[in-house]
Amino acid sequence: MYSWPHTAQLIETQLSQVQELKESIRHALTSSRPGPCIDCEILLDAFRKLKQAQETVDQHVRYNAFWQSAIDRDRSYFDARTRLLDALLKIQSSGGSVAREGPVSGGDPQELKQQINDRESIHPPLYVKASRSGARWLITVPIYTDIRDGDFLDRFEQAGERIWKSEDGKFQLDITVKSVDVAALYRPDRGPALGEKLDLEAHVGRFPADGAVLTTGARSTFASLGRFVVLGPGEISTHVLAHELGHLLGFEDEYIRGYRDLGADGFEVLELIVDRQSLMSVPGSGRVLRRHFERLLEKIAVRE
Ligand SMILES: [Zn+2]
Repeated sequence: MYSWPHTAQLIETQLSQVQELKESIRHALTSSRPGPCIDCEILLDAFRKLKQAQETVDQHVRYNAFWQSAIDRDRSYFDARTRLLDALLKIQSSGGSVAREGPVSGGDPQELKQQINDRESIHPPLYVKASRSGARWLITVPIYTDIRDGDFLDRFEQAGERIWKSEDGKFQLDITVKSVDVAALYRPDRGPALGEKLDLEAHVGRFPADGAVLTTGARSTFASLGRFVVLGPGEISTHVLAHELGHLLGFEDEYIRGYRDLGADGFEVLELIVDRQSLMSVPGSGRVLRRHFERLLEKIAVRE
């Protein structure tokens, strides 16, 4: 749950702890005795905790800045998501699992049922192909990239293939990363200079269409369904990379984002995680589940 009042409260709590630590340090300095510093470890520990809390505050500020304006720009979409979220909460609180049947209230019941069904919908792009050898399925994904960091590309490929694999080895991914020369993409025009601000959509549009695109230049990492991943600066864990790869395969995020209107205080942004086990619900720790592969093959089979 995120909102500006909640963030303000976080900041206030942290500021009072900063004040407390300052006083403890001052006290330790004025009453220093000869010999080893007894309080130093405790003070250092308190400092580390504060530093961690500062990162949390930063994350809340960034999250609010992004999602509050996104909701404001597209109220009708988020109204529909909020109705879905409320319907799912109601089903959960009545002890039921989030089923595809049963009455749902608010909004158009037919529309909500449709949305609950669509929640797990997946739209594999044409470049994702499946082939069978005996009882095993191999799913191939070609990815074009203008990233030159070979170590990173190896890590991406290995993480993707390791995490997108069923335990019994029945389903497996085969990622092929192909490097493209940026200058060739822009010919006869001049390619973008290093550090030049890019129109990311237009940039991705220059890549061949028979594969996904992996590129850089975003302020924070984001993906478009079945087409591209644009990386932001900073470290990205292998699990999050595998989650982004899920978007390239055509999977949507499985969590549902809705909101409450707080009037002058903006919105309270809500997230409902339906399945904590799933990589597409929880990018940091979720797993690829059997149903992911089954849904993917089902869709590819219908298409062919
Ligand atoms: Zn995602």
